Amino acid sequence: MVLLDAYGPGNTRASSGGESRIIRMGYGADDLYTRFARRSFQLWEAFFRDAGQPLFKPTGVLWLAREGDPLVSDTLATLRQQGVPHERLSRLDLKVRFPQIALGDHTWALLEPESGVILARRAVSALVAEAVRGGVDYRAASVLTPEGRGRLDALGTEDGESIHAREFVFACGPWLPKLFPDLLADRIFPTRQEVFFFGPPAGDVRFSSPALPAWIDFGEEVYGVPDLEGRGFKVAPDRHGPAFEPDAGERLVSAESVARMRDFLGRRFPALKGAPLLETRVCQYENTSNGDFLIDRHPDLENVWLAGGGSGHGFKHGPAVGEYVAQRLQGAAAEEVRFRLSTKETVQKRAVF
Ligand SMILES: Cc1cc2nc3c(=O)[nH]c(=O)nc-3n(C[C@H](O)[C@H](O)[C@H](O)COP(=O)(O)OP(=O)(O)OC[C@H]3O[C@@H](n4cnc5c(N)ncnc54)[C@H](O)[C@@H]3O)c2cc1C
Repeated sequence: MVLLDAYGPGNTRASSGGESRIIRMGYGADDLYTRFARRSFQLWEAFFRDAGQPLFKPTGVLWLAREGDPLVSDTLATLRQQGVPHERLSRLDLKVRFPQIALGDHTWALLEPESGVILARRAVSALVAEAVRGGVDYRAASVLTPEGRGRLDALGTEDGESIHAREFVFACGPWLPKLFPDLLADRIFPTRQEVFFFGPPAGDVRFSSPALPAWIDFGEEVYGVPDLEGRGFKVAPDRHGPAFEPDAGERLVSAESVARMRDFLGRRFPALKGAPLLETRVCQYENTSNGDFLIDRHPDLENVWLAGGGSGHGFKHGPAVGEYVAQRLQGAAAEEVRFRLSTKETVQKRAVF
């Protein structure tokens, strides 16, 4: 088996190249992604254990909710139904357990105590290292768009190599529309997403795990991760940014975004009002029209598969996606209709959160 990557495992341009990615089980009423997240969690834990790499941080994940919040209420019902560990916290519970959060108009929250954060960039590197130890032939190479119809015999690379294989899987995240412009240029929308790391006061552990879980404020479309390994308190908008080009796009955040994040921080975490900005990142989501993944066979090339469309929530699902792709290749999995290419629209209407 050959694994090719143009920029290397966990590189800065990749969507998976961030320091941390949240793994949560809840997806509103969406049973599909809850199932995928649960399966992935098992596989991530087994991988980290076997590889001797403690790259999962059990911070817990806190969903802040307003009165009657449909997404969090549906998530609560799904987790209850599927037996996923969770707690429903009242406003009073929140005030006692997390006094560092200024609740504003949040009246309750859902806590997934066993979920948390994966150190993403390092997890990808560890995965490739393990794959190489297991016999995978990893090479740095940029592949070219496959041409023709029927069966693909060989895939060309920028430096003139030909890679022969029985099956080809393109899991190129935000680059899929560049590699398959005819199919995907108007079906996968890479958007610019900014990430901010603010510095808590010296000696203050209120913004680190275990004092604070990872948290999501869907009402404000902002989420965050407690300070892990002293890298800073991560805050990021989940709202889709403008279109972004993953190869050439410059990765500097704007002054307006910094001001918006500071405003949010001061309101939600008053002790961090005026906290210094330690580091910023610009990454990209690779959105499908509604947030459902794209995992399907190429319509013209029978042994070419497309796997992507992570849409800002795909990292956690990597292991289950890999398992599903492997089973599809062997004809061993029933097709999930929501992952079909034919379900991808050309107008964005986000439905998976
Ligand atoms: C700021 C931010 C926060 C996020 N937060 C979360 C979160 O908390 N939880 C979560 O689950 N998900 C989250 N996501 C989404 C998640 O990170 C992505 O869905 C996921 O990482 C996508 O992985 P991928 O392997 O499909 O793409 P990528 O990680 O982008 O990998 C694609 C790879 O393809 C390679 N490539 C491209 N073109 C070629 C070519 N021609 N030849 C060879 N190789 C090529 C690239 O070098 C790259 O390494 C977040 C995303 C961002 C940007």
